[in-house]
Amino acid sequence: MINELYQEIILDHSKRPRNYGRLEDANRQAEGYNPLCGDRCTLFLKERDGRIDEIRFEGSGCAISTSSASLMTEALKGKTVTEAENLLTRFLDLVTKDQTAAENLGKLAVFAGVREFPARVKCATLAWHTLRAALRGRKEAMSTE
Ligand code: ZN
Repeated sequence: MINELYQEIILDHSKRPRNYGRLEDANRQAEGYNPLCGDRCTLFLKERDGRIDEIRFEGSGCAISTSSASLMTEALKGKTVTEAENLLTRFLDLVTKDQTAAENLGKLAVFAGVREFPARVKCATLAWHTLRAALRGRKEAMSTE
């Protein structure tokens, strides 16, 4: 499915997710659910003056969804909301249609391989759809369905 290096990064982040846990003073929060696989993701953001100061997540799910959330939080910490939205667009392009979007995505490029597997795309994008809900301040729960 994916090459060994990519597999290693995904396994590492699914076993030891970064930025995992609640963020008590979060000012943006959203929940995501992928019923197809049973993945759940709650995202906590502390946004100040248009910048993401802190970001954490909680949830349970498969290796793809957990590692995607972990790598996403790593990539977004310290970024502006505009940069986060650009990254979101590029990531969704990468896993749904356009391999060339991998440029400037860094480690997030490891998910390029899921494009071939529509069911796995929902796992890889759950955290990112949840991010979009959090940035837009939507209160209701987000579902990939
Ligand atoms: Zn999954």
